[in-house]
Amino acid sequence: MNGVLVLLEYGGAWNRMSWEALAAGQDIAAQLKQPLMAAVAGRDLDGAIADLAGRPLARAYVVRHPLLSEYTADGFTAAFEQLIQSLTPSLVLLPHTYQVRDFAPRLATRFGQSLIADVIAIGMETGEPVFVRQLLQGKLTADYVHSGIGPCFVSLQAGAFRADTLTPGECTVEDFVPRLEGSQIRSQPGERFRESAQTVDLSAASLIVSVGRDIKEHGNIPLVQELATALGAELAASRPICDNGWLPMERQVGSSGQTVSPKVYIAIGISGAIQHLVGMKGSKAVIAINKDENAPIFEVADYGIVGDLFEVVPALTAAVRKAKSA
Ligand SMILES: Cc1cc2nc3c(=O)[nH]c(=O)nc-3n(C[C@H](O)[C@H](O)[C@H](O)COP(=O)(O)OP(=O)(O)OC[C@H]3O[C@@H](n4cnc5c(N)ncnc54)[C@H](O)[C@@H]3O)c2cc1C
Repeated sequence: MNGVLVLLEYGGAWNRMSWEALAAGQDIAAQLKQPLMAAVAGRDLDGAIADLAGRPLARAYVVRHPLLSEYTADGFTAAFEQLIQSLTPSLVLLPHTYQVRDFAPRLATRFGQSLIADVIAIGMETGEPVFVRQLLQGKLTADYVHSGIGPCFVSLQAGAFRADTLTPGECTVEDFVPRLEGSQIRSQPGERFRESAQTVDLSAASLIVSVGRDIKEHGNIPLVQELATALGAELAASRPICDNGWLPMERQVGSSGQTVSPKVYIAIGISGAIQHLVGMKGSKAVIAINKDENAPIFEVADYGIVGDLFEVVPALTAAVRKAKSA
């Protein structure tokens, strides 16, 4: 077995997490000194080919078949099973998307393997990759290593790996046509899920201003919105804010919200409950503003301001505006 194969997701447009998975693949393939390969299945794949040709891959495969034009777990599992049998990679990486959650455990089982799911980091020990997962809502992390015969299957958490570390390159894109029959596809695809027009992709934001419960009322949200606007940041929140309907659910960060990894995360009046931390601890720098110097958020903060947000935030906004106009 040789090579790292990344299974990308494309449904007329790329799922952004595909590039995070490819970036992780690039890194681990270099460490293992193995070739990096990628594959994509689905519909309207012509648009995908040009993008793949500019990636740092030994080879890329476009998995084509009329029975793959609509996603089904049966079709994708059977098609990728045949591709993996022909390529015999040592490691198969996937983005931890909803689609991947649907078919990847079954795909792994076809090779006598379990999917190591929702991995947040990959280390190396004595030349072997070690995959880190969170347990118990992020209270613990656990290391997983591959065992048994067959490729190792791993899905990667959204926001855990940075797509901007992916280097440009070039590669040959080949067609792979699996042998599929209609009788293999037992499910009928339903109507395609459409995301609401106002969906915010916080996981792609490089600057986030996040607000917690003690902003006290809906009418105070503009206070933090102004800071976000001055900085050019996305506005996010802890769960109580979204539960109260003061900001839409799509702006919630945490175990039941989005996972983010911005360059800077400013946590305002957020205590740092574990369910919030699991969603933002991949941030490159954390700035916490909290009036309680013992708030747990300060344990993950790179910079802390102990103070009343109603004084600190307007002062910060004014300082940012002044600096920008200078
Ligand atoms: C299954 C489950 C899933 C969950 N998922 C999520 C999730 O996805 N995301 C999430 O965020 N939470 C989630 N939670 C909730 C989580 O446990 C916490 O209750 C929540 O994160 C607390 O939000 P908070 O920090 O805004 O509020 P609090 O914990 O109440 O903290 C408010 C903070 O503001 C500070 N403060 C008060 N007044 C001021 C002031 N004037 N100036 C400055 N600081 C001030 C206080 O010192 C305090 O630290 C989940 C819980 C469960 C059980």
